Amino acid sequence: MMVQAAPRAPIRPLPDTLISQIAAGEVVERPAAALRELLDNAVDSGASRITVRIGGGGIDLISVEDDGCGIAPDELPLALARHATSKIASLADLEHAPTLGFRGEALAAIAAVSELELISRRGDAPAAAIRAVGGRLGSVEPAASGPGTRVSVRRLFHEIPARRQFLKSAATEGGWCVEVFRRAAIAHPEIGFTLWQDARQTQQYPATDDPLRRIADVLGRDFAADALPVRAEIGPLRVLGLACRPTAARASAAQQLLFVNRRWVRDRVVAHAARAAYADTLHGALQPQYALLLELPPERVDVNVHPAKSEVRFRESQAVHQAVFGAVQRALAPALGARDGAGAGRPDGPGAGSTAAAASSPAGVGSGAGVGGGFGGGYGPGAVSTATTSQPPAGTGAWSSGGAARPAWMPPRQAALPLPAALAGWAPLGVAEPAAGGATAPAADDHHPLGHAIAQLHGIYVLAQNAAGLVIVDMHAAHERIVYERLKAAWSGRALPTQPLLIPAGFAASEAEVGAAEDHAAALEDLGIAIDRAGPSTLIVRALPAALGRADAVALARAVLAELGAVGSSRLVEERRNALLATMACHGSVRAGRALTLAEMDALLRDMEATERSDQCNHGRPTWRQIGLAELDALFLRGR
Ligand code: ADP
Ligand code: MG
Repeated sequence: MMVQAAPRAPIRPLPDTLISQIAAGEVVERPAAALRELLDNAVDSGASRITVRIGGGGIDLISVEDDGCGIAPDELPLALARHATSKIASLADLEHAPTLGFRGEALAAIAAVSELELISRRGDAPAAAIRAVGGRLGSVEPAASGPGTRVSVRRLFHEIPARRQFLKSAATEGGWCVEVFRRAAIAHPEIGFTLWQDARQTQQYPATDDPLRRIADVLGRDFAADALPVRAEIGPLRVLGLACRPTAARASAAQQLLFVNRRWVRDRVVAHAARAAYADTLHGALQPQYALLLELPPERVDVNVHPAKSEVRFRESQAVHQAVFGAVQRALAPALGARDGAGAGRPDGPGAGSTAAAASSPAGVGSGAGVGGGFGGGYGPGAVSTATTSQPPAGTGAWSSGGAARPAWMPPRQAALPLPAALAGWAPLGVAEPAAGGATAPAADDHHPLGHAIAQLHGIYVLAQNAAGLVIVDMHAAHERIVYERLKAAWSGRALPTQPLLIPAGFAASEAEVGAAEDHAAALEDLGIAIDRAGPSTLIVRALPAALGRADAVALARAVLAELGAVGSSRLVEERRNALLATMACHGSVRAGRALTLAEMDALLRDMEATERSDQCNHGRPTWRQIGLAELDALFLRGR
């Protein structure tokens, strides 16, 4: 006999208010989420000014006031009704919805779990107000108000202890509200924003037509001082924003902001692409800081995948990845053109205008055929154009001051020789003779911005004298960067030229290492590394990349095997490859503690001058510092 189910009540439709209260759980799980919905509505109303007030962290009060289109008195109850919206009328509209809202459930959901007051005036109609407590609507009443709308939400979740108890302290909830406010301000620079917290005005952003200026205003001086402009147009996709130099990376990812078609969203594809653009220069634990505004045709991105609208789905995510990767990478390395040759003679140093790299930019930059292909259809490579600016746009001087990639006395980057030629003069370290090409003859400092070596300090630092004073170089970090750029330059498009070791280096390998050597034989070959198995647990390194010069073959092989084993990719996509090249560079560069001759030190300085991004090592640490004469004078209280 079957077990009898417990007697149950008959099936009935849920009352509307209850549906809204349930929905409120996902639409507005906390004050900041409610604020986001109200801000979205204010933006959708076509406002030019928006004022936000929060009290008690948004738990006591959230009020958003706009000067937008307003709502007619007879529509006020509808605005608070579930699934009522003025923004879309059909499924087709959803595809192209230019508004932030479209579900028609936010106000109903918020009203169901709070005390809500909506006051609005539309055009010439008289202002009117409606109130709702726990979803029960009052009647429409006349009110006094200027054009536009004000929505005030009080006592959020007051009647719903189960939800209330999940709220954090007022300070924490308030902090999240401020975050939401700041994101809205970044997404809509043409709107003036003001924030009041507990009756104090705490933030104000006047309207501006410069999105980068708004980002700098909102994210603050520290961010702006280290920020480089990102500007690219690739097929139908536009990437605009600010990305901080790698040296400004922090432990927290809080300042990684992404906006897609003016919505703040989280997106793994874009986050990964941005991260990858920094991978060269950033230590694993550090987080890059950036704010990126992506714009693409609405039909190429699905915004209706998340109830709180904080995620989107790209139709061509691979193309978006490549575009963002390329745009950020280029922002970080303004002199990239100097390496691919296409940029030779192009003025992109201080004082120059913008540079445009057309579809001929190297595939490695990620803006080329891949994107054309990815977006398909009418966006072939011919239609691909990419514009980057190494200079901040006019009128943004305030935030650019500290962002200059190099000191004023350094020559523009394109003055550097193309990498391979410049590196030909580099004598492998440890060779006693001066480098070929004679880097030692004293020359005017304007030819050698980093000056001439005078000593080595504790086997770690190279000291040099230049016109400005003293230069201190972290020799391992600097050499690592040079070797890394040399490896990248030597990459033939498919593989690194290899060179057999004079004396193959055998080592006792772990099972994992033996396995990785077998599984990733093709990748190793691409990297110019030849490893043979010489017994159940013995591997022999027979060849390393020719561009590497001297290296600790065993340590290098182990590091690369560990990395390949951990990631397990058989194909070397660019980001992966660069990470591996960086690992190799680390093992192929001069170790701290090694004594260098003056000639070797000078050769290092010359290579640094010729190497792109040589002022940061692969881990984002600076490779050299200038100590000016004035600073030295100050140390000794020496007046001039
Ligand atoms: P949605 O924004 O998805 O349409 P909401 O519940 O947020 O749904 O809002 C319902 C409707 O109320 C909107 O479609 C709009 O017509 C109206 N509305 C809400 N807020 C405002 C506002 N600040 N200004 C003008 N109209 C508004
Ligand atoms: Mg809405």
